[in-house]
Amino acid sequence: MRALQYRTVGSAPELVDIPTPVPGPGEVLLRVTAAGVCHSDQFIMDLPEEQYIYGLPLTLGHEGAGTVESWGAGVTGLQVGDSMLVYGPWGCGRCYTCAQGHENYCEVAAAQGIAPPGLGAPGAMAEFILVDDPRHLVPLGDLDPVASVSLTDAGLTPYHAIKQSLPKLVPGSTAVVIGVGGLGHVGVQILQALSAATIIAIDTSEQKRALALDVGADHVLAPGEEAEAQIRTLTGGKGATAVFDFVGAPVTTGFASRVVAIGGDIAIVGVGVGTVDVGFFSTPWDAQARAPYWGSRAELMEVVELARVGKIHVEYEQFSLSDGPTAYERLRAGTLRGRAVIVP
Ligand code: NAD
Ligand code: ZN
Repeated sequence: MRALQYRTVGSAPELVDIPTPVPGPGEVLLRVTAAGVCHSDQFIMDLPEEQYIYGLPLTLGHEGAGTVESWGAGVTGLQVGDSMLVYGPWGCGRCYTCAQGHENYCEVAAAQGIAPPGLGAPGAMAEFILVDDPRHLVPLGDLDPVASVSLTDAGLTPYHAIKQSLPKLVPGSTAVVIGVGGLGHVGVQILQALSAATIIAIDTSEQKRALALDVGADHVLAPGEEAEAQIRTLTGGKGATAVFDFVGAPVTTGFASRVVAIGGDIAIVGVGVGTVDVGFFSTPWDAQARAPYWGSRAELMEVVELARVGKIHVEYEQFSLSDGPTAYERLRAGTLRGRAVIVP
């Protein structure tokens, strides 16, 4: 089968021919219908050799959708052709956090060598993907897999981050979204669907600010000192009730620390190595900072339901598997509208 693989540290991903996997006991083989391109892929492909821990060659794609093709011994309850999303943050399925559905915070995954597809295990940018357990499949029904595949990360990750702040996002509150790319543009819609907060979206790119307005932001700002002042003005001096930072660079986490309100939340979602120094002389009273990772299986089901009722959608540009490297170039150039989705 054809697959898009990261093969050499520092090089662009390559289209290769590899054997089609055969499902072993407990495993499910999906015929891939769509795979999403995430900034995290670029992050890991930019890592120097001594920090790169995902194995080579790596078939990319931690956002995956497919139809059930076959399964190994012991798997029951599936039918050939069932349309599925792949829940990506695989855990052991047995520890306490996994029992809560939070496989994204599995206590033993790293120790047991369990890795998400596309981030250690072979990912979805191929004609077929092996899924380690049927519990990692969420039925899509008649939703379009190409339009829905990025719900698995670009939908799930902001959902998990936002859900924890919802009790604070009451009428009169303000949510700031930094970075309106793949994750951020769905984040804006989740905030609009689930909260009464006024939504202020911030992005360096004018096109992304236009996208933010299209998907429901109330105000858009270019980052900088002026934006800090504008947030103070827009909130009557209070600051932001919650800041969702989908960049996570020192410049944006610093910004978040300065605009957050008393008792407000900062969620650092982007992996740009920025930090928030919570303390009496650096952040307002009782401000909290978190660095949430991906989301739970139940939350993915909730995100799919939000899409099913039309409250959120993913803006995407479609690429073929052989055009995969171009999709990554467009991601790096910052010219994608929403997500890039690869269809094999
Ligand atoms: P993306 O490239 O699609 O979007 C990033 C957006 O941020 C772009 O619109 C860009 O113009 C904007 N931006 C860049 N620098 C900025 C700045 N200084 N101020 C304001 N806006 C700026 O990326 P994505 O796929 O949406 O991923 C976003 C981040 O989230 C990445 O760091 C990614 O690795 C990370 N991520 C984290 C998790 C998690 O579980 N925590 C999951 C998926 C992705
Ligand atoms: Zn991702």
